[in-house]
Formats: sequence, structure tokens, C-alpha cells
Amino acid sequence: MSGGWAGSNRRAELPHDWYTVIRPAVLERDEYRCRARLDGRVCGRPANQVDHIGDKHDHRIEMLQALCARCHAQKSSAQGNAARWTVRMRRPPERHPGLL
Ligand SMILES: [Zn+2]
Repeated sequence: MSGGWAGSNRRAELPHDWYTVIRPAVLERDEYRCRARLDGRVCGRPANQVDHIGDKHDHRIEMLQALCARCHAQKSSAQGNAARWTVRMRRPPERHPGLL
């Protein structure tokens, strides 16, 4: 059995019950509050995202935390996009070809 998932990447990394079971369970455990630490304090903003604390293939609930969109974006860009960021920041902003 190989459905349409076989070739598609990204979302295939998440377990099939991620959206139905795991994710809601984490958000509820964390009371829909962002658990990111900012300057030693917990962020505490309303959270609607679930983040992997450790390995992104580790879907155990104790290895997941609720995050607000802002902290999640920050964390993601601090990880994988770090290299891409530096490149982007060195380049002057591109003009939209349709605008002048
Ligand atoms: Zn936050």
C-alpha cells in the first residue's frame, strides 16, 4: 500500500494522527499558551502551533510544546533557515517587477 503520500515529503514526516490527536493534546496540555521562553520568562501568548522541542521526528507528547505563531517563526528561522537568512540579508531587497 502506497497512497499519494509516498512521494510527498514534508507532511509525510508527521504521524497520521498528528492533526487529530497529538496536536490538539499538546495544545490542551499547554492550555493554548505559548511555552517559549523569552528573556527567561514564558511567552504566554495564545498558541496555535505545536513545536518539536528536540528531534523533529520525535513526536512523543512530552517532546512537543505549544507555541504562538511568532515564536514558532522565530524558532524555525533560527534553525534551518539560518543560512538562508544571512544570504537574504546580504542581498538588497528585490523590486517587484510589476511595480515601479
Ligand atoms: Zn510565543
